[in-house]
Amino acid sequence: MRYGLFGGTFNPVHFGHLRAAEEVWETLKLDRIILIPSANPPHKDMHDMAPARDRLEMVRLAIRRSDHLEVSDVEIVRKGPSYSIETVRHFRRIYPEESSIFFIIGLDAFLEITTWKSYRDIFLLCHFIVLARPGFGQYNLEDFLCKSISPEYTFDAKKSCFFHPELLSIFYTEITQLDISSTDIRSRIKEGRSVRFLLPREVEDYLMEKGLYR
Ligand code: ATP
Ligand code: MG
Repeated sequence: MRYGLFGGTFNPVHFGHLRAAEEVWETLKLDRIILIPSANPPHKDMHDMAPARDRLEMVRLAIRRSDHLEVSDVEIVRKGPSYSIETVRHFRRIYPEESSIFFIIGLDAFLEITTWKSYRDIFLLCHFIVLARPGFGQYNLEDFLCKSISPEYTFDAKKSCFFHPELLSIFYTEITQLDISSTDIRSRIKEGRSVRFLLPREVEDYLMEKGLYR
């Protein structure tokens, strides 16, 4: 089995996230993608952060009718800050050894990976699927990998993948860019403007009912 792990604050989850997950699932032929809302993201300020339980519930509502997207509460149940290395180790433990794990991440976030706890170990435990983000292309990734991770990466253009003799592969994928962000959604809600068609209707109904981001 091929599993994708897609972490984020999902504050709130929107069609940018969901469409990205769907295209990655299709393009890289994954069996399942697990969306993992973080509890206490060490790199985000907590201002404007909806309670973890609500962010989890909104993801649950968003993916309810998909048979290949799932949600996990591991980071929320776990005490302390949400470190990706611990999440990857968790899934490595529960999935059979022969399964492949792919860590899905936007290029903007990937370029900050050297600030993460035990980030080098992550490259030994799972593959990466790096999503293009506006303003960041494949050359930024190549440059970053060779300078900050290891000079031994080589790019296979046919597979759109960086291979390494010891570390697991890094796939680069250009998904349909939907210029939607949670930040923009939160500020629209604060201003009393419409957020219809930026996120699933069930999520909109939930956050309105709960009075989130007002
Ligand atoms: P915020 O505006 O609060 O930072 P966000 O919209 O960037 O929120 P996150 O929860 O921070 O959402 O993102 C989780 C993951 O999804 C990250 O890896 C990010 O790069 C990716 N992502 C976010 N928005 C999009 C989008 N529109 N298209 C593709 N990937 C996205
Ligand atoms: Mg973001």
